Amino acid sequence: MITFSTIPAERRPARERERLLADPVFGQVFTDHMVTVKWSSGWHDARLEPYGPLALEPSAQVFHYGQEIFEGMKAFRRADGSIVTFRPRANAERLNRSAARMAMPELPVDVFMQAVDLLVGADRDWVPHGEGRSLYLRPFMIATQPSLGLHGPSNAYLFVLIASPVGSYFGGKPVSVWVSTEHCRAAPGGTGAAKCGGNYAGTILVQQQAREHGCDQVVWLDPVERRWIEEMGTSNMFFVYGSKLVTPRLTGTLLAGVTRDSLLTLAADLGHPAAEEGVSVEQWRKDAESGALTETFSCGTSSMITPVDRAVGVDGEFRIPAPGPVTVRLREELQGIQAGTRPDRHGWMHEI
Ligand code: PMP
Repeated sequence: MITFSTIPAERRPARERERLLADPVFGQVFTDHMVTVKWSSGWHDARLEPYGPLALEPSAQVFHYGQEIFEGMKAFRRADGSIVTFRPRANAERLNRSAARMAMPELPVDVFMQAVDLLVGADRDWVPHGEGRSLYLRPFMIATQPSLGLHGPSNAYLFVLIASPVGSYFGGKPVSVWVSTEHCRAAPGGTGAAKCGGNYAGTILVQQQAREHGCDQVVWLDPVERRWIEEMGTSNMFFVYGSKLVTPRLTGTLLAGVTRDSLLTLAADLGHPAAEEGVSVEQWRKDAESGALTETFSCGTSSMITPVDRAVGVDGEFRIPAPGPVTVRLREELQGIQAGTRPDRHGWMHEI
């Protein structure tokens, strides 16, 4: 545990807040406060303070060598007015796995939990009402040592937590995907399993290519054979064969999603056999064309569970029926647990 000092923000008037909450565009509006905690040989100067610009030296290592990691998680407002976060410890633990890979200091899980509770508690009026809406939380950590020398890890870091009210990412509608055989997102021995900013910078161009091919998202293939499906945009993927679910196994080049892990657990609860195994793009196409594959969906914190109805690649396209019953059932179960209308059998919800 650590003691946080508070510098209260000038809160925006309720009318302005209500206007901003009416139709939130993903990641464009931020709440009144943020949390910052500094590190230099240990964590110190923990603060809840007004949301605003950070003062950093232009020589701060993050700007040059990209030593940065982040997380994404959500707080929900339930019908009874209570506010809950979903599996915050899982995000704290993944942040620390990313920190270890990037030679950054770990943030004690309890400090992460305190930071989230403090910010969401202070800005609880910004947690939107309504289905599919939530307060998206973005914890991140950057290397702040002013030095262009890359002789070792930075000797100073800043952890920051900001919050943004959001609606549903794809509006729950099915998406189309571009299967990129030209680019890949991660390499064996690289940083693909860490949630670091650099993994995303290289995907922006490919996302633009997906749009040029008339698709909403990119499907990433493995970096060696370019045939095994890894993940989609910033989500993991599930393939449904009747009642059975298959998701690509964690090879070290894809991110271990909290939603993916939760759905593997829920599939078992609901009696769906689920396997983590290799799925090749040829198999996906063949099974979609034969009808053996009945549904495909992506899952992640921001987009929740989103059906995929069309895949486009260099050798043509194929369609998948969407949304299918398994996709809908899993989405209802997960959203129900978050909304408090279905039992939280695994103790995933954390009340603030
Ligand atoms: N893959 C990538 C590359 C991601 O950025 C994300 C979003 N964090 C996911 C998968 C899904 O992870 P989660 O379910 O934890 O949001």
